[in-house]
Amino acid sequence: MPELRKDPIIGRWVIIATERARRPDQFSGHIHDPEEAKACPFCEGKEAKTPSEIYAIRPRNPTRNGPGWDLRVVPSISPFLRVEGDLDRRGNGVYDVMNGVGAHEVVIETNQHIANMADLSEEQITRVLNCYSDRIADLEKDMRLKYVLVFKNYGKGSGGGAIRHTRSQLIATPVNPKRVKEELAGARQYYEYHERCVFCDLIKQELEQKERVILDFDGFVAVSPFAARFPFETWILPKKHGKRLIKIIIGISRLCHA
Ligand SMILES: [Zn+2]
Ligand SMILES: [Zn+2]
Repeated sequence: MPELRKDPIIGRWVIIATERARRPDQFSGHIHDPEEAKACPFCEGKEAKTPSEIYAIRPRNPTRNGPGWDLRVVPSISPFLRVEGDLDRRGNGVYDVMNGVGAHEVVIETNQHIANMADLSEEQITRVLNCYSDRIADLEKDMRLKYVLVFKNYGKGSGGGAIRHTRSQLIATPVNPKRVKEELAGARQYYEYHERCVFCDLIKQELEQKERVILDFDGFVAVSPFAARFPFETWILPKKHGKRLIKIIIGISRLCHA
């Protein structure tokens, strides 16, 4: 029986169609192809095939855009937004316009041709997460930017492209997306009514009920949200209350708290 579930933060109703939910094996489809690795612009030794690097971890060679790196960040070859220029907000009758100023970067997570982030070592994954943090801290200095989204496409039909070299994308925008504005407003409304933080309440309830907790570990809890929008949606929430809204979407998981 399908169910209607309301997201307690933004108040949006979601239809949960349980019968149609896909199983984990329907998400796989990786085939190892050595020919594909030869053509890959993200592998070590192919640095000239990408735009000049913005950030890199280079324990074996300090030369920019040379080999000897563990992780590189480069501007997207087909960016949605560009760092150069002013916002130049203007009106055109009823329409409001501004320039597409922002950042669109690609985080090449390893120098090896590995398709899935799950196949990286713990050390490599730590490096990737620390890189997100460093890049966000750097972009935060740009007063024009308000919001940073980190995301990953994986698999056919996801927009991940034909080259299966594990990478993430980072987009910084000069405006807050509508969903984020709604989430901030919803969290504020909950606080004004209850005088408590909605995320802290949600974490407390989930830890007590243990119905949707996927993992409870040091400082963080991973839960399957009550009103999930898609199969395997996972929220990774810091247990400690903080002042800033931090949300990182990596494929089907997200980090958020207010
Ligand atoms: Zn590659
Ligand atoms: Zn809180």
